[in-house]
Amino acid sequence: MRRYVIAGNWKMNMTPNKAKALIEEMKPLVAGKDNCDVVLCVPAIDVPAAIEAAAGSNIKIGAENVHFKASGAYTGEISAEMLVEAGVEYVVIGHSERRQYFGETDQTVNLRTLAALNAGLKAIVCVGETLEQRELGYTETLLKFQTKMALTNVTAEQMKNVIIAYEPVWAIGTGVTATADQADEGNGYVRAAVAEMFGASVAEATTVQYGGSMNDKNAAELLSKENVDGGLIGGASLKSAAFAAIVEAAQ
Ligand code: PEP
Repeated sequence: MRRYVIAGNWKMNMTPNKAKALIEEMKPLVAGKDNCDVVLCVPAIDVPAAIEAAAGSNIKIGAENVHFKASGAYTGEISAEMLVEAGVEYVVIGHSERRQYFGETDQTVNLRTLAALNAGLKAIVCVGETLEQRELGYTETLLKFQTKMALTNVTAEQMKNVIIAYEPVWAIGTGVTATADQADEGNGYVRAAVAEMFGASVAEATTVQYGGSMNDKNAAELLSKENVDGGLIGGASLKSAAFAAIVEAAQ
């Protein structure tokens, strides 16, 4: 019922020319892999090159952030309308790096999510606990709280355009992957929070990704879990063969 989504998050990597070259390499490797949506979330400056390179393929382009205001005196920011007009379809919101380094809060994650959805973008909303929060036993509480805060004032209809990525902070970019059972459990907490807000059928239909050092070696096991409906992939999305292998694992 729910669709797998394999999404790369390039972070602050790749110039426009490198973006074009990498997408050209990836296109034939992921062509026809229709059991999942294939998305690359790229730096804003790479968006035009990425969209041009991906044209006619099954690769969709996403951004890595969006501002919550429609326009105005917000130097350096990019609005949802700007992304839509550029051809962007998805946007990552509330990545832990933005929470950690750029003052992102649960409230601004919610505002960005609403701005993205109201503009017709698909929102990939990130939630996840730190190692300290996990060790204190707060994982379930934290994941449910972050999920509910992010989705406040979102309608059940808009949930069709929401993807939630469970990304344990301790697993992002560290090479330490959650076990498949930990990923399944975390994703299950997220789905339970969606059910508490919107009911069981919306929760069952919502794509919940796992993210955190997912790669070509561990993807099949992670994706085999009931609650894991895809991946948000950083490092391995910068290598065509590794990313394609993860897309293959989602078939
Ligand atoms: C990410 O950037 O969301 C991520 C999960 O990174 P990595 O795959 O490198 O851990």
